[in-house]
Amino acid sequence: MPSEDKGCLYLCATPIGNLEDITLRALRILKEADYIAAEDTRHTLKLLNHYDISKPLISYHEHNRMEKGPEIIELVRQGKKVALVSDAGMPGISDPGADLVKMAYEAGVSVTVVPGPSAALSALVLSSLPTRRFAFEGFLPRERKQRRERIQMLQTEQRTVIIYEAPHRIKALLRDMLDVLGSRRIAIVRELTKIYEEVMIMSLQEAVEYYDGRTPKGEFVLVLEGAQPDTMDRDFSHLSIKDHLREYISAGMSKKEAVKQVARDRKIPKSQVYPYSIDLEA
Ligand code: SAM
Repeated sequence: MPSEDKGCLYLCATPIGNLEDITLRALRILKEADYIAAEDTRHTLKLLNHYDISKPLISYHEHNRMEKGPEIIELVRQGKKVALVSDAGMPGISDPGADLVKMAYEAGVSVTVVPGPSAALSALVLSSLPTRRFAFEGFLPRERKQRRERIQMLQTEQRTVIIYEAPHRIKALLRDMLDVLGSRRIAIVRELTKIYEEVMIMSLQEAVEYYDGRTPKGEFVLVLEGAQPDTMDRDFSHLSIKDHLREYISAGMSKKEAVKQVARDRKIPKSQVYPYSIDLEA
């Protein structure tokens, strides 16, 4: 930890919804700081007002980080204590905080962390999916082609995967994941620590159906089951396409899902699989 009387950049975690989720140390650091650098100063003011803290605020966000970053680091070099907070949770996780940390090391100034809540870990522990090994993906690319390419990379990822997404992109993301990965288990974690906190644990197929005709609202974290080793790189050459379809249908898949999954497994177009499904009972 840096000495008390020297300049330092403090990466200070703040609540992700419930204002009580702030540590005693975070409150002390915010009270003692010379400046607070915040992603959205109006948003941070609500937190500061709640705890009766009044400090000079510096706006530091995605669009001004290249100009403001060096100014903040210069303040630290001059001996000032600067607390960096993001809109929610741990600064540096899917927000511009990470750039400032890099600049601090490059400039040789002190930097430390004041840990606290993060939506990623909170969602993971609530998901009921394996927590022993996990991968954090943050936000996937917005552009559809790049997003699907990234999802393809997850086909063989055996660790539980944590994904952030804005509500208006949730439906498209779920559809893309179902298309590319097939139906895995997913926990849809919404509004963590807030009044309408909700965790829905279902299959990707059910998730897509659930949101058909509904509008996702609030803040979301998706926690996706990792690839199961027994479904990866399986050799299907001993099975006819029809038997391959039967396997999935008898495991509970609809005919449509089974066709998709078999096409995926065999890396062939669905149109080549579909004719074999016509006279199968589902
Ligand atoms: N730095 C933050 C952290 O440590 O979690 C994340 C910042 S990122 C810009 C914002 C995203 O985090 C949201 O789009 C959402 O995916 C997730 N998030 C933040 N607060 C949340 C909450 N209360 N419930 C669910 N997701 C949340």
